[in-house]
Amino acid sequence: MKVTIFGTGYVGLVTGACLAEVGHEVTCVDVDPGKIARLNDGIIPIYEPGLEPIVRENHEQGRLHFTTDAAAGVAFGELQFIAVGTPPDEDGSADLQYVRAVAATIAEHMEAPKIIIDKSTVPVGTGDQVREVVAETLARRGVDLAFDVVSNPEFLKEGAAVNDFMKPDRIIVGTSDPHSEAVMRELYAPFNRNHDRVIVMDLRSAELTKYAANAMLATKISFMNELANLAERLGADIEQVRLGIGSDPRIGYHFIYPGCGYGGSCFPKDVQALSRIAHSVDHEPLLLDAVEAVNRRQKHRPFEMLVAHYGRVEALAGKTFALWGLAFKPNTDDMREAPSRTLMESLWAAGAKVQAFDPEAMEETQRIYGHRDDLALVGTRDAALKGADALVICTEWKAFRAPDFALMRESLTAPVIVDGRNLYDPDRLKAEGWHYYGIGRGETV
Ligand code: NAD
Repeated sequence: MKVTIFGTGYVGLVTGACLAEVGHEVTCVDVDPGKIARLNDGIIPIYEPGLEPIVRENHEQGRLHFTTDAAAGVAFGELQFIAVGTPPDEDGSADLQYVRAVAATIAEHMEAPKIIIDKSTVPVGTGDQVREVVAETLARRGVDLAFDVVSNPEFLKEGAAVNDFMKPDRIIVGTSDPHSEAVMRELYAPFNRNHDRVIVMDLRSAELTKYAANAMLATKISFMNELANLAERLGADIEQVRLGIGSDPRIGYHFIYPGCGYGGSCFPKDVQALSRIAHSVDHEPLLLDAVEAVNRRQKHRPFEMLVAHYGRVEALAGKTFALWGLAFKPNTDDMREAPSRTLMESLWAAGAKVQAFDPEAMEETQRIYGHRDDLALVGTRDAALKGADALVICTEWKAFRAPDFALMRESLTAPVIVDGRNLYDPDRLKAEGWHYYGIGRGETV
């Protein structure tokens, strides 16, 4: 099948590469000429395990094309995917300008019937808006062409995006049109050999399903962080509590890790957007707003722990802190809404310096913050410790799980760890003379 994808970010590029990998012909369109030029040179603009080889191979095989030419993109595919960003507006609601722009572009250039598939995460009702934009543009052009708008939200996880796309838990298709349903089933048939993963529903339910999934996951995290903060004050260990509740199959072990808050491009923005959607229909989303508020507070915990350790905020001035982990989660270079940013910005405001290491996100950190005297990005985990006054961990990269604690003690000026991801055993570290602060681990600081 011939497929066009507008937007070559995490979602668009992975979708394009994976559809090409199973034999479809794909053209990816982006408005960013630099990105398209790099992709045509075989350079992948993001870090995503397993993505580079399939992009390169399918590009070389002629099944995956990259262009800035929107008209050529519209002419190419019977299926036109919208996979552009939907960032938060000033009030937290999803900014749909890029989605609308693509809809208008498709309608501006189409000369044959198209199925327009929305893969971006969008508020309920956006499919209808896309339909209106396309219909109005076609009417203005004086052409009468059939088209349908389908919702096909994406559930991939950054860091495991290729695997998630190739082996999806479910493929949500929001349409009431039998032809569109049949085309979508054919498109995804290669991902469905083991069992049918396609769930067809009406367009609005499909749009809401995406927000519901992310809001549920964010709720699990904020719930555990709420309990972790309670555990600290009560002298309990949230990690024991986690094991205790996870053993109940109705709760399960997945996604109940306490930590220094969730980040990334999806959970913060989608919880806020769903809250705005609720307000727009006169429903006060008490739970969603609490999920967001708990997370905002949680991102400050590592900094608060340092302040508590030194007794007052002024004591941080002039100190240097080693930071392990910058990306919002492991296996990605994505820094959007990362808890490390909250920490670094608080440390800088307090007059402290940061000496940081991340396996993938250092270039992105440099891009965001530029060169500054109070930020040193160093090449290894161990180099970040040299001469630092304490270590803070913000991302649970595998390489941080089993460090050489003796070497760490020699490198740091004092044995202090703030472990924002609960990687270590507090009893062992305390027995070895460390000041160890985990999240919800019986410490009240
Ligand atoms: P992104 O910011 O990484 O990429 C968006 C791309 O769209 C950019 O390359 C941008 O240049 C391009 N673009 C903007 N306007 C365009 C236009 N008119 N024509 C062509 N290209 C255009 O975004 P992303 O992370 O891939 O997210 C895309 C959507 O998918 C969002 O709605 C997001 O919420 C959703 N989503 C993201 C993830 C994720 O893990 N990142 C997962 C599921 C769903």
